[in-house]
Amino acid sequence: MKTARFHFDDEFHPLLSRDKRSDGFDLSFRGPQSVKHLIESLRVPHTEIGPLKANGESIGLDYLVHDGDQIEVRPDAPEVCQTEPRFVLDGHLGRLAAHLRMLGLDCLYRSDYDDPELAKVSVSDDRILLTRDRLLLMQKRITRGYLLRSLDPEEQLREVVKRYQLIQWIKPFCRCLRCNHPLESISKEAVLERLEPLTKFYFEDFRICPACGQIYWKGSHYERMQKLIEQIRKE
Ligand SMILES: [Zn+2]
Repeated sequence: MKTARFHFDDEFHPLLSRDKRSDGFDLSFRGPQSVKHLIESLRVPHTEIGPLKANGESIGLDYLVHDGDQIEVRPDAPEVCQTEPRFVLDGHLGRLAAHLRMLGLDCLYRSDYDDPELAKVSVSDDRILLTRDRLLLMQKRITRGYLLRSLDPEEQLREVVKRYQLIQWIKPFCRCLRCNHPLESISKEAVLERLEPLTKFYFEDFRICPACGQIYWKGSHYERMQKLIEQIRKE
């Protein structure tokens, strides 16, 4: 039996069991084991892991841990995306998908996606996988993913905006909340007969989803989202 001492950054504490939240703890194991495997045995997906050190030296995820090693685990730093990030969300995150689409971000979401499909779409389409399912993120082929901490959709949105530095990519009111398709401008006259009387009275600027036909205007939902964006910017 071999034993290594693990030191996880405080940021990991919500992901670790109570007895592993101290400054350091010993982990015993048999045979050759990669640091990735040992960390994932503690239910921390590899997508959450940032810089790693063994005995003060930088190491990669495939490092084979030796008896007596001191392993330091730091969280992954917020990612500055060079191109507009795109997402795929698991089937429990419908409200988060709507929030992200409201910000204009490209989010694939279907309530009936199963785990193999989600993993496949994430890899083949280079989409960041958002989920609260740790086992899903532990799949070897997933390289871009984030484990949501909160159960609350607005808190989840904050987490994702911070994790992927999304402020620069926000383009509100340009994507369909229902089906993710980019919206097009449409004249009020063209949609007049589909509008409720108060909407007709108060709004002039309309957009339509060419895929599903949904009409959008800057109503109360939009104002609430603007406030949320302002709050996030200040944070
Ligand atoms: Zn649509």
